[in-house]
Amino acid sequence: MSSANVRVPAKINLCLGVGPVRDDGYHPLATVYQAVDLHDEVRAAVRDDDRITVTVHTDLDARSEIAVVPEDDDNLAVKAARLLRERTGVSAGADLAIRKVIPVAGGMAGGSADAAAALVACNDAWGTGLSRAELEELAAQLGSDVPFLLHGGNAIGGGRGETVSPVLARGSYHWVFAMADHGLSTKAVFAEFDRINAGAQVPDPVVPDALLSALRAGDAVALGQALSNDLTEAALSLRPELADTLAIGIEAGALGAILSGSGPTALFLASDEQNSLDIAFALSSAASCADVVQSRGPVAGARLI
Ligand code: ATP
Repeated sequence: MSSANVRVPAKINLCLGVGPVRDDGYHPLATVYQAVDLHDEVRAAVRDDDRITVTVHTDLDARSEIAVVPEDDDNLAVKAARLLRERTGVSAGADLAIRKVIPVAGGMAGGSADAAAALVACNDAWGTGLSRAELEELAAQLGSDVPFLLHGGNAIGGGRGETVSPVLARGSYHWVFAMADHGLSTKAVFAEFDRINAGAQVPDPVVPDALLSALRAGDAVALGQALSNDLTEAALSLRPELADTLAIGIEAGALGAILSGSGPTALFLASDEQNSLDIAFALSSAASCADVVQSRGPVAGARLI
């Protein structure tokens, strides 16, 4: 029976500019994505019948919210497989098995990553042969972050995040991620953003020039200073203790600190391996932080293994 395994990274947003809410309820975004070395794996095995099933496995016992990853048709990986099947007219089903490492509801797009991985895995296992560009079209229908997770590396995201264009970038960066013990709903953070900005003139979002030139130069110090996230105030309003997490990392010598997307994961840019260890050590005893992970970026997008 044919099967395929895919490895897919988490994403971080080096900047996240958020514009005024649109009539369709989405916010225009201007972001620079980076794919980082924290991976889920998705295996697709072809079934004899037309059912699409999913199971989720994790070693992350400490993070109890793993229970909220649906093991039914609501799972984004299942939605991706169904969309590919509709698009190609294939009749087979698949058993999807997800090995989950990316934190759930952590602002690192774990669900979108699994959707991107399921597209690549099913395209291979079913032999549907869609090109990368064709998969990217389907990805955009599945969610804002899905096209980037096929792409990987660094990229500028526009629209509501789904239009991905290349960015000139150099260097490999050391990151430390501080995970919180409860996820934060992306929807709730955007609602808080709208509440805070009610009546205000929210400007159209832009990617800061300073961030693009730091990436072009591969300058970690300049990148640390240019990190930005327009959702910070909204996320801190819902989770004030995250301000302590950010402060602890900066005190330990991080070049920069921001929340990842809508949070609650906090990101710290380290100057080197030793600095990364120092930051991780300082955060590991912080009450506001449930788990600490050292990582590197950029890495490739969803790939067969
Ligand atoms: P983003 O950064 O894209 O805003 P996030 O990283 O904060 O998202 P996810 O981990 O993608 O959040 O999960 C958000 C919700 O999506 C979960 O609470 C869960 O109910 C649902 N979900 C559906 N499929 C998956 C999946 N395969 N993995 C994780 N969550 C999933």
